[in-house]
This record gives sequence, structure tokens and C-alpha cells, in this order.
Amino acid sequence: MSRPIEAVIHSNALAHNYQVIKQRAPNARAFAVIKANGYGHGAARVVAALRNADGFAILEFGTALQLRQQGITQPILLLEGVFSRDELQQCAQHNIMLAIHQAQHLDWLRDTPLNAPVDVFLKLNTGMNRLGFVAESAPAIVDQLRAMPNVASVTLMTHFATADEPEKGIAKQWHRFQTVTADLDCPRSLANSAAVFAYPEVHADWVRPGIALYGSSPFAHLSAADLGLQAAMTLRSRIIAVQHLQAGDTVGYGATFTADREMRIGVVACGYADGYPRHAPTGTPVIVAGQTTRILGRVSMDMLCVDLTDIPQAQIDSEVELWGAHLSIDAVAQAAGTIAYELMCAITQRVSIRLD
Ligand SMILES: *Cc1c(COP(=O)(O)O)cnc(C)c1O
Repeated sequence: MSRPIEAVIHSNALAHNYQVIKQRAPNARAFAVIKANGYGHGAARVVAALRNADGFAILEFGTALQLRQQGITQPILLLEGVFSRDELQQCAQHNIMLAIHQAQHLDWLRDTPLNAPVDVFLKLNTGMNRLGFVAESAPAIVDQLRAMPNVASVTLMTHFATADEPEKGIAKQWHRFQTVTADLDCPRSLANSAAVFAYPEVHADWVRPGIALYGSSPFAHLSAADLGLQAAMTLRSRIIAVQHLQAGDTVGYGATFTADREMRIGVVACGYADGYPRHAPTGTPVIVAGQTTRILGRVSMDMLCVDLTDIPQAQIDSEVELWGAHLSIDAVAQAAGTIAYELMCAITQRVSIRLD
């Protein structure tokens, strides 16, 4: 037997979550966002689970090409666009849609001889101040794009900074987007996961859900279960050693946890080199042999410790769920002071991935 940690990817949950999103945004098409290796789930596995999705959105050019080579025929959108004329030419050859967000992209589109025209998503900066043309320049740029034989179609796109926070909302960005695009006859794409659930008025033509597909809630005030979402990944391992502590004994590096009575603890084959967050403190939830307990002391590179005092049936080889079907990844992320996005993406190479 090999080291027992594994990430199990639940294909049915991915398909279910995509359907939940489609029901929330019934009049939009939905790009399944599969950047960062499908938020750590494996881009190819996610595509296989969602083979009837309306389209896929991704950042990594090589993975986009691979999907085409594997025979995926749906629209594929490059969310950050291309980084060279050569990539632009390959988009034309393989029918890959691309975001454009800065002046050089316009130059490349204007004067690169392409084999076929491309579909572009004109990214407008309405307040996020990360990528995008100044929103007010939209009409002039759309005019330029429409004059280019290399451009088959133009979709207007923006991205919200605070769709997940009800107190901040999207009003300012949404108003600016509407104002600058009012006279433009183009399809539109605005909504990330949070906006799919919170703001039906911005569903428009294409929504772009990521985190919700994977069964995590984009909101602090609503759980994934509240939204009808199911965990797409279970990270699990096993107990590989058991220790008995006396009052005063400590656990792990830094001796940050001290037993105040007799305790039984388990050592789990999972550490930060597997992607488990090192900052998860004592008290972070974990399930051992079907029972919820807590981690104890510092997470180390290859191991972490859990409290077995009230789980007498737990022993070496008992199953441990770090997060997943029975323990929300959002709860673990919150305990560790981070977000589920980061935990999903952090799963490392040495964790074997299994499909169920
Ligand atoms: C990552 C990304 C999304 C998906 O966001 P979620 O919060 O995961 O739903 C949507 N649009 C763009 C431009 C992105 O980069």
C-alpha cells in the first residue's frame, strides 16, 4: 500500500453544481471556469464530468489547446487573452475565443494575418482596476474591432470586485457598465459565481461560474448547502500512528498545544506539502472514522495531529476526511484564515487523484 492521502473528485457533484447554476441563470449560457487546473480538480477531469457544458473558460493557453486536440468542440474562452501573436494565430486556427484587455491586443488583431477570424471578449475595467480597457472607451474600441477582418464577433465583458459582499455589492460597476455599453449591440458577460446567485440582472448572455462548480460558496453569509451545491472534492487520508498524552505533554513543532488531561491523539498522513494549510490552528475541524473532531498543534510538512480522545473506535488506518462530502471546505478555509479557492488550488502533485 502507498501513502494513503488522496483527493477524490466527485463527477456527479460537478454535473449537479453546473445544473444548479443553469437553473439560477436559465437564460444565459454558462462557461465552466476551469483555470488553475480546474481549481485543483484536474481540468481534463472537470471537462469530462461537464461534457455537455455550454463552454469552458480558462487562462492557460496550453491546456486550452489540449482540450481542442482532445476533441472538445464547445466554445473555449481564454480569460486573460493571449501573450503573443503566435498564440493569437493558434486561437484562430483552433477556434479559441480570447479576452482582449490592452492596446497591444488591438495592434495584434489589426495587423497579424490570421487564417480565420476570432471571437473576442472586450474586457472593460469598470472598477476592479486589474485588467481591462477604461470602460468609457468601449464604443470607440468596438468600432475599431468591427472594422477588422480578423474579428468575427465582439462580446462585452467585465468582472466584479465585490459581488460576494452584500454590503458592497455591484451597483457602481454595474451602472458604469450599463452607461458605457448602452448603445452597443453586442452580447455581454459579467457574472462570476457570486453574481450568478446574487444578481440575476447581470446574467446577460454568458455567465462565468468557477468556485460554485466545485461546491464551495462564494459568500461568507451563505453555505454551499444553502445554495444547493455539493462538494466536488474530498481530501482524505488515514491515521498512521496513535500517541497517548499525559497532562502537560505537548504536540508537534513549537509545542503549541499542551494537553490539560490524558488524551489520545492520531497522526494523519497529510501536511502542508500535500496542500493542507499550515496556518490551520488547533480546533480546525476534521472527520475521523466518521466523527467530527479537531486538529491539534502545528500542521507539519507531511503530517498533522488530531484529537481521538472521544473517538475510541479510531485507530491506525482509520479514515480521515480533511474536507469534502461530509466536511465543508469552506469551514476548513475559514478556520485557517483563507478561502476555499486557495485550498483547492494548493493540492500538490504527490496527492493522488481518483475519480468517483
Ligand atoms: C476566475 C474567474 C471567474 C470565476 O470566478 P468565481 O468566483 O470562481 O466564480 C470569472 N471570471 C473571470 C474573469 C475570472 O478570472
